[in-house]
Amino acid sequence: MNPAILGIDASFIYNKGAFVATQADMDFKLVAAHEFGHSVLMYAGGIFLSWGHKGSTNPILQSVKSTTPGYPEKGAIDLMKYYDWSKSRVDFMRRMKDSTAMEIDIKRLIWSSQIKWLK
Ligand SMILES: [Zn+2]
Repeated sequence: MNPAILGIDASFIYNKGAFVATQADMDFKLVAAHEFGHSVLMYAGGIFLSWGHKGSTNPILQSVKSTTPGYPEKGAIDLMKYYDWSKSRVDFMRRMKDSTAMEIDIKRLIWSSQIKWLK
């Protein structure tokens, strides 16, 4: 989890799990990207955007809302949203392959970096 504050040294801790190494590595990368994304969402839109997973969860309980859709049948899976598993599921490899930072979140990252363009 990331309550929007990365560790003091901005590191993520890799906890060995029960998966084989390749799956654990992929899962770690996806979770790390998601957790880093919380910092971007918190900066750009506050607790409801970040802890609320862009409106897909209750910000405090982290439970999906009744309006939260299941995973999309095809195409991109929003890295920063939760999906309702009771409505539709995807397998591990599909989640790894199609999870992506959405364009709006990339724009939020660029905006929050406060880049100053040289003339
Ligand atoms: Zn999250």
